[in-house]
Amino acid sequence: MGSIRSLKCRECGKEYEPQFRYVCEDCFGPLDVLYKEVKVDRKTFELREKTYWRYFELLPIADKKNVVSLNAGLTPLQHADKLGPKLGLKSLYVKNDSVNPTFSFKDRPAGVAVSRAKETGLKAVGCASTGNLASATAAHAAKAGLPCYIFAPSDLEHVKIAQALSYGAEFVSVEGTYDDANRVAAIIGDSKGIGVVNINMRPYYVEGSKTLAYEVAEQLGWEIPDNLIIPVGSGAMLNAICKGFEELHSLGLIDSPKGMKIIAAQPHGCAPVVDAFKRNSDEVIPVERPETIAKSLAIGDPGDGAYVLKRLKQYNGIAEEANDAEICDSILLLARTEGIFTEPAGGVSVAVLRKLVEEGKIAKDESTVCYVTGNGLKTTEAIIGLLPKLIAVKPDAAEVAAMIR
Ligand SMILES: *Cc1c(COP(=O)(O)O)cnc(C)c1O
Ligand SMILES: [Zn+2]
Repeated sequence: MGSIRSLKCRECGKEYEPQFRYVCEDCFGPLDVLYKEVKVDRKTFELREKTYWRYFELLPIADKKNVVSLNAGLTPLQHADKLGPKLGLKSLYVKNDSVNPTFSFKDRPAGVAVSRAKETGLKAVGCASTGNLASATAAHAAKAGLPCYIFAPSDLEHVKIAQALSYGAEFVSVEGTYDDANRVAAIIGDSKGIGVVNINMRPYYVEGSKTLAYEVAEQLGWEIPDNLIIPVGSGAMLNAICKGFEELHSLGLIDSPKGMKIIAAQPHGCAPVVDAFKRNSDEVIPVERPETIAKSLAIGDPGDGAYVLKRLKQYNGIAEEANDAEICDSILLLARTEGIFTEPAGGVSVAVLRKLVEEGKIAKDESTVCYVTGNGLKTTEAIIGLLPKLIAVKPDAAEVAAMIR
């Protein structure tokens, strides 16, 4: 056992022993997990557990007994046969990751990073969070029996704070932006030996997100979709999904993903990657004061922003944004056509999808997978103003009957 070969610098290629290390000492590039040769085929996974741990050989945990699992993953890939035709699309799928145990896709990266923290004997874990990672990390820490430290901006949605606190985490509420919280978390994590899942455990963290590619491929019968729409905060998920498809190809499980089109979706008010893309520049200029209802995407200085731009070049990509009104509208559209209630991040994906279909940048006969990454129950304040106000009535059937036409 022990499928990790090394940690490899994404920039200069230097390899390191898999230790508590996340940047290259020569060039400060990020480190990615490199695996020893593994032998798997399509059949390997077929009868396995219905969680993302079915891909165990492709994840950076050496010993199965260190897996900390809340049974996340293998979420529905819903054929959107109501929303698709409404937009004029023949083949639209929604990857509904809002139904994970803590109600966002963050159960994937957090679960893998906490498992790795357990495997390497770390005594505490934590994260810098825009909201969802807090609960994903806290819940997995609870299951692992490890203390958990959350660093997050103080203006998060109430539910996200209450949820994370309920799992028993220490919550450091930072007056400032996500980037401020992130900076503090990085320093505290390294000085106190805390495994901060999305900072000093990042090489392992991103490996969890790539299962969003594995599952979509498997659920489509190992076919590759034409388009992927992916919401972008730090950009780690988008990059990991690309890595996931590439790994499946190099393992011989799918054809080359080269022809796939990758679409990055960001909220207006925090769209530094979209801005760079539209300026045709490789340089992501940080947004100092993000202002958007899509708080889980409110990362002004995205760690993987430059890599997202590279991926867009590599995969005929597009980056597009949606404003708050378009996001809310799309949350309700998705709910009312597909019965899926998402938070604003998912609204961003759907809003960008609509925009690109209208502009003819997504062709009607192409197959498209739209990633919906978080649950609407966490963010009802975003859309409550758009819903009908209720007026209570007497429990009188005649009176109620008169109201219902
Ligand atoms: C964190 C998050 C994202 C963005 O993921 P990144 O890896 O930071 O780009 C998207 N959607 C939801 C619901 C999130 O919580
Ligand atoms: Zn390097």
